[in-house]
Amino acid sequence: MKKYDTIFLDRDGTLNRDPGYINHLKDFSFFDFTFQALRKLSDNRFCIVTNQSGVSRGIIALPALENIHQYVRNSFKDNGLNLLSIYVCTDHPDKATHRRKPNIGMFEEAAKEQKINLGNSVMIGDSIADMKVAQALGMDGILVKTGNGLKTEAHYKNEDFPTAVVSDLKEAADWILVRESK
Ligand SMILES: [Mg+2]
Repeated sequence: MKKYDTIFLDRDGTLNRDPGYINHLKDFSFFDFTFQALRKLSDNRFCIVTNQSGVSRGIIALPALENIHQYVRNSFKDNGLNLLSIYVCTDHPDKATHRRKPNIGMFEEAAKEQKINLGNSVMIGDSIADMKVAQALGMDGILVKTGNGLKTEAHYKNEDFPTAVVSDLKEAADWILVRESK
């Protein structure tokens, strides 16, 4: 049995619908299956790693972002899930630092602060950036086809990464359960 140290989760398009630059809690909605899926993995620990360039674009106010993330933390807690932390990068893509995915900065921070073995961790996400950062760090990468996932799948055609391509977070959870039971 090989259990992952930590399951990294992208936010928009992976856990919740992605209408683009969510700047109010009322516009944030988890997919119907999100917690049903994550509860199957309740022996694992989680970290959310999200790019939110809407902040530096002036579209998302920090208090609104924090309000959304408090709701996310509460939702994980209500479902008995161990969410270690939410890492956010507010950089504009034109002035991206080492923290903005596909760069590895947020993952390095997480590894240090939460004592995570990245080489034995997995990233679930819908974008090329999510898969690139996972590959760069020697993590497994699970691509979900929600959000931008179909576009990302086309990008990765005929490559030996991502580790798995699944329809959504529910299938990702099932894939991990099988992987961890081996
Ligand atoms: Mg995403």
